[in-house]
Amino acid sequence: MSKFVELVLDSWDYLLALLFQTACLGCRGVGEKALCANCRRFSLLPTNGTGVEAALDYTEPARSVLRAAKFQKRRELLRYFKPVVCSMDFSYVHSDSAIVPVPLHWTSFWQRGFNQSEILAKWVGEITGRRVVPDGLYRTHRTKPQSLIRSSHRGASLGDCFEWRRGHPVPERVLLVDDVLTSGGTVRACVAALNRAGISQIQVWTLLRASRAKPSKLLS
Ligand SMILES: [Zn+2]
Repeated sequence: MSKFVELVLDSWDYLLALLFQTACLGCRGVGEKALCANCRRFSLLPTNGTGVEAALDYTEPARSVLRAAKFQKRRELLRYFKPVVCSMDFSYVHSDSAIVPVPLHWTSFWQRGFNQSEILAKWVGEITGRRVVPDGLYRTHRTKPQSLIRSSHRGASLGDCFEWRRGHPVPERVLLVDDVLTSGGTVRACVAALNRAGISQIQVWTLLRASRAKPSKLLS
């Protein structure tokens, strides 16, 4: 996001909070921001060396901020995560990796107006200097968000719902970027699609990670 766009979104957020006396998404205290200064102090997860890294636990307040951004279409809230992304250690990412966001189905993109994973991927691209390939991977059919499916049914619906776009240049290595890692079903389905396209060198970065996620089992 450009500095100007960030400033506009920040002012818009401030104006809304001032007009409606909205509560902080984290602590529910009334404030002048959607997330108070205290709740903006996220604590980073340590790196685990598996090639599947995440910035934050999928807990409050990060969980509510991400869900409000996605399901209430409040794109401006994502900016609270930019300092988090900027403070991450991406030294594990190969120097020639292409950064590929997990895509939304075009109907979901149309409804929401943005793909949060693509926004995150662009930030990671800015920070690491690696190229971002937002349109290589696509979703062949629509599925329910994994976070809204009962855990016993997660992963089952994904199967081959991702593909690499035919004729699109195939990078040698990929850093797959998603907003949240829960069961790992989405990541596994994307990795399978990348493998089918001939890409075997894959690493993963997600903004949030549920405690039940098993990063060490995703790329093996
Ligand atoms: Zn707060």
